[in-house]
Amino acid sequence: MSSQQPLEPEFYQAYNEIVASLKDSTLFEQYPKYEKVLPVVSIPERIFQFRVTWENDKGEQEVASGYRVQFNSAKGPYKGGLRFHPTVNLSILKFLGFEQIFKNSLTGLDMGGAKGGLCVDLKGRSDNEIRRICVAFMTELQKVIGPNTDIPAGDIGVGGREIGYMFGAYRKQRNAWEGVLTGKSTNWGGSLARPEATGYGLVYYLEAMLKYVRGNSSLTGMRVAISGSGNVAQYAALKVIELGGMVVSLSDSNGSIVVPEGSNRGINAQQVETIAAGKLKFKTLQQIITSESSIFSKDHITYLEGERPWTHVSRVDVALPSATQNEVSGLEAKSLIASGVRFVAEGSNMGCTPEAIKIFETARLNATSPENAVWYATGKASNAGGVAVSGLEMAQNSQRSHWTFEQVDAKLKAIMHNCFNDCIEAAKKFNNENIENTLPSLIKGANLAGFIKVADA
Ligand code: GLU
Repeated sequence: MSSQQPLEPEFYQAYNEIVASLKDSTLFEQYPKYEKVLPVVSIPERIFQFRVTWENDKGEQEVASGYRVQFNSAKGPYKGGLRFHPTVNLSILKFLGFEQIFKNSLTGLDMGGAKGGLCVDLKGRSDNEIRRICVAFMTELQKVIGPNTDIPAGDIGVGGREIGYMFGAYRKQRNAWEGVLTGKSTNWGGSLARPEATGYGLVYYLEAMLKYVRGNSSLTGMRVAISGSGNVAQYAALKVIELGGMVVSLSDSNGSIVVPEGSNRGINAQQVETIAAGKLKFKTLQQIITSESSIFSKDHITYLEGERPWTHVSRVDVALPSATQNEVSGLEAKSLIASGVRFVAEGSNMGCTPEAIKIFETARLNATSPENAVWYATGKASNAGGVAVSGLEMAQNSQRSHWTFEQVDAKLKAIMHNCFNDCIEAAKKFNNENIENTLPSLIKGANLAGFIKVADA
């Protein structure tokens, strides 16, 4: 492994985080057999890299690298999203595939872990060109996936539109209607509540954290800083608003919108929906708030160019990083704690840097009671709602049936609450920290609980 280390920083960050959690617990002491599993899960079962070529709207040929990392199938068929973004490389997909193994096991459903993607920037491309890219990508990917082998879904850059183009291509190329992708539209085999699932699930996980710490899960009056403005951030924000919380920020890769310090009005549902519609057309947050000035008044929202929200929000109770990996630095973590944050739950994968995690975890270790601790939830537990409903979509496709929104939402909520309980129980059972057992580490708990399920399989 060491020979690859310098080349794959994100993967080693994710791998080292798990190893540190497991080693810094009593797991291997109590059950030495588990240590032998570590090297086995550290290497993907299979990696595919392939060339994707298409004609752009100017009539030129373009080419990009496509990938699928089939990391682990101990618990079920490979499952995980596809990311279309200019930052995509093997290190990032290996880190995402590796985390997906444990995340999927934390849902309690039978799914292995995988991730794939394409190194491409979709911004500014027409619908037609995006369709050609998706068809070209699927022409290669369909050779290695199947409804009982590997079931991809969306991730950054891949939403309902892209899943639709890819599903159509698969169906034609294989002459088979199969539940091979999740995140499909509901009129051709998708599950209700799949678009909402990651954001809603994140808030359900947060509710479980609140209940554990404060005895009730109410979000009423809580000030919630959110980053990102894609699928996860949008639905997390809408759920927070529905439950009486106040959303004080959102962001994209160009800047952030924050609610000014003295204001008692948060970002509202109409604003979130306007952002969602603009994002589908690849508009930046700045373009959206400028072109929709009747919806975003200047006294209500401040736009900060080139900034992440964390150091600009004040009096915050909850932070939900929901943009991308490594989006909270150590300094930003300190600033969040200074502004009052007690609960941090990642909607993104590996949203916090190792420095930020250390700061949150130190604040927990220094706490004298659950109420004054900082509670940090790693994405592989707190954002598991998306893949959980993907698992429910697979179940509905296998049964050739559809469940109601309420049925899926209730199952999602139960999965997120069980996931939280599994994390707490594992953290307590294998705790080697010199603290009260009422203050367990949620990140260690998630890593331990996820790993043990996979190792047992
Ligand atoms: N991309 C999502 C994740 O990171 C969902 C994956 C899926 O639904 O398969 O978990």
